This record gives sequence, C-alpha cells and structure tokens, in this order.
Amino acid sequence: MSLPRTLGELRHSPFSEQILLTRRVKDELRDNLLAKLRQGGPIFPGIVGYDDTVVPQIINAVLSRHNFILLGLRGQAKSRILRALVGLLDTQMPYIAGCEIHDNPYAPICRPCRDEIAKRGDDTSIAFLTPDERYVEKLATPDVTIADLIGDIDPIKAARGGHQLSSEMTVHYGLLPRANRGIFAINELPDLAGKIQVGLFNIMQEGDVQIKGFPIRLPLDVALVFSANPEDYTARGKIISPLKDRIGSEIRTHYPATVEEGVAITTQEAWIQRDGHKLHIPKYVQEVVERIAFAAREDKKIDKRSGVSQRLPISCMENVVSNAERRAVRHGENLVVPRIGDVYAAMPAITGKLELEYEGEMKGADYVGRELIRAAVAKTYDAYFKGTDMNQVVQWFDLGGEIQLADTAGAAEALPSLRNIQGLMEKLVRVNVGPKDTSETQVSAAEFALEGLHAHKRIGRNEERVFTAGEKPTKPAEKPFEREDVPFRGRRPYN
Ligand SMILES: [Zn+2]
Repeated sequence: MSLPRTLGELRHSPFSEQILLTRRVKDELRDNLLAKLRQGGPIFPGIVGYDDTVVPQIINAVLSRHNFILLGLRGQAKSRILRALVGLLDTQMPYIAGCEIHDNPYAPICRPCRDEIAKRGDDTSIAFLTPDERYVEKLATPDVTIADLIGDIDPIKAARGGHQLSSEMTVHYGLLPRANRGIFAINELPDLAGKIQVGLFNIMQEGDVQIKGFPIRLPLDVALVFSANPEDYTARGKIISPLKDRIGSEIRTHYPATVEEGVAITTQEAWIQRDGHKLHIPKYVQEVVERIAFAAREDKKIDKRSGVSQRLPISCMENVVSNAERRAVRHGENLVVPRIGDVYAAMPAITGKLELEYEGEMKGADYVGRELIRAAVAKTYDAYFKGTDMNQVVQWFDLGGEIQLADTAGAAEALPSLRNIQGLMEKLVRVNVGPKDTSETQVSAAEFALEGLHAHKRIGRNEERVFTAGEKPTKPAEKPFEREDVPFRGRRPYN
C-alpha cells in the first residue's frame, strides 16, 4: 500500500479523521498491546528474566494508559525496557510535513501548520514517522533547563522571518513538544531541578505546556515514562509530590534472580560471536563470570545503593573471550576455549564497574576484584565437583608437584604437564570432559579444577600462575604419609 501524500488522500485512507482524532498515543499503545496479547508470544522480545515480575506490571500500566516509572539500580535494563515500548507504536504515523512537533493533520496545534492548511487545504503535504522516530529520550541532569525541555523564544528565527518576538512563529521547541504524538522517556528523573519537575507536572495535569512569554498553549499528546534509582526517588524532596502523584504506576526492576538468567542475559548482550575463530565457552566459565556479579552484589566492600550492573558480566565476558582469542591466534589454535585464567585477565572490565565502600577503597579495586573472582570460582567449582575426592591431586602438589599455567600458554604445550598430575584428568567427567575432547577443552577444564582447589585454599597459586602445594593449617597433620600410598605410579594411558 502506498502511503497518502496529501491531506485529501489521507481523508480517504485508513488514517481517517474519525480514527486519528480520537486515538491518542496511550490509546495506540494500548490497542497494539492488546493485539500482541491476543496473538501470544513475547511482548518485549529480548527482555530476559522479567516475565513473571516486571513485564506483567508494565502491561498493566500500558493497559491503564498510565505514565509510569521504573525504579531500579544501574544495569537492570530500565532504559532498554522503555525503548522496547517503541514496539507498541503503529508502524506509520501521518503528520503535517515539515512540522517540528509532528502535528496531527486533522488538528494541528502550531500556527505554521494552521496557516498551511488554511492556504492549501486538501493539498497540504503529509509525511510519516516510524516508531523509532517517535521515541525521545533524555538523561536528566541538574542543568537541564525549561528551554531544553519545553522551549524558548528564538530571536534569530524572529529576525529572519521578520516576526515579532512574541509571535508564535518564533518558538524554538524543546524536547517535550518534539516528542508530541510519541513517547518521551526521562532517565534518572530525580536529577531534574524542581522547577523543571513543575513543568512536567503541568503537561501531566493539564496535558499542555506553556512556553515562557507566550500566550499560547500547546495541548500535547505524549506518553511519559521515567526511570530512577529507588533511593533517590523515595528520598524526601527529590521529587515534588504532585509530580509523584501523577505517575500512574511505579514498577520495580531487579537483577537476575538466578545464575541461569544472568547467563542468558550475558549471552544475549555480550559481543562474543565474532568472525574468525570457532568459539566454545564452557558453561562453568559462563557461570563464574555471572557469579562475580552475584558475589559483588552481596559484598560489603561494594556500595549497595548504586548496585552492580549487569554490564559487569557482559563486559567481563567480552574480555574473557578476547584473552582466549589472543592465545588461540598466538598458538595457531582453531578453537577458542576460555579458561578461568582469562577471567582473571579480564580485571579491567570488572574493577571500573564497582563502586567501592571505604573498606574496599582501602584494599584496592584489584584486590576486591580478585577476591570476587575467587569466590565465584569456589562456588562454581562446588556446583560441579562437590563430593568428588580430589585428595590425590592435592597430594601431588603436597609432594612437591608444580605446574605453571599461564593464561597465554597454548593448549598443546599445557596438556602433557596437566596429564602428569595424578588423578586430575579423570575427574573432569564432572564437567563432561574426557580424553576424546579437544586439547583446548581439556586444558580449560583441568585448569578450572585446579583453580577451584586454589579458591578453596587446598592448593596454592602465585601471581605467575604457578600452582603449588597449599599453605597447611597449623593443626597437626592427620596421618603420616605411608610409602605404599605414593601417588607416583606413572601416567595413566589416555588415548
Ligand atoms: Zn505544526
């Protein structure tokens, strides 16, 4: 279907006066949402982990034609959800061509459009907006002015057009009028100055705005959505109460509830499908990366109020894959398999995302980061190896065994020395790895087992990634070592 190009054509199209005049943005969102609900399938594709919590509340808010706010800590996909509302807008929306505030062809509110229709009638040109063009987003900061948000007199426009300064033709529209007939999202709402909040309140209350010094009113049609940090939002005096009162629904977001959900989000968001090498990310590496964020969210050394963003595991995973990629390229390996050593190498993607409390500051971001990885490794190790007897491996180290496993070491060179460690390789069935797997996979799994033992302080490891015997507790040794138990029985045959 070709779209109507003039007002006359528009009248005889599905965009009839009868429909466009009564269907406001919130009706449109509601109608399209109802259609989606009837159709079944996901309402907000790509939003993971909110199906039973946040999504139903958003649906209710939209069905209620509410302006609403998402309250949540950083990195809880708030902006992403707000942007997803674009999917509930019509694919095409007609407006008067050239109008800065996308006037409804049947009820223009700006002077130039009204003049245009008076002059050209049904020949008035019509243009169309796509859903993306109807979404305006603003990060609130204390220096946002009324002029930014609502508008101002533009003396240059006045001079050029030969208009009086007080003429309607000299208005420079702010973001809000430019979002007319669309969605206007303000992130971090409490950071807006009080008088700007009053301006917003007016649009919600009266449905219109007044531009300073102009005797005109602009009855705008906008769906307003907001996001905020819950502590800022509930703090006294941060939000003027009449504005708060006008926000129909208040919806709390949250971090992924389970490691599996975290893995699903990170897998979707992280840039890991790269051209070039084949990639296999072991599940335990994914879980370790995710558990770093889980551990950080519970750590007293990290500021609770700002939270730990889901962007931490996402960036971390990207760096983990890069470190493994670098190793694969160096050694001419065809398969990229990340290891725990790559997670430690991904520290630059971790430390910057932690807001440290005083105690954390004292210890330093690197120390805190390493401790988080270690805790994540210990937990993940338990999930796979709990109940597995690893004494033989520990003994090998206690008897003086040592192995260096740099994160840059190729799989082919590392594997033979790992096989020397009695009792190690056969335990890797716990992570579904056996002698028939690629050497990259076997090395990664074996290193995970060693890192797990290290995380539990059963064996030692230094900064050069040399695994050694662990420091023994001071309590008396259990049983003296007996000659016939010597674990050095030579290598097991593998292939
Ligand atoms: Zn207009």
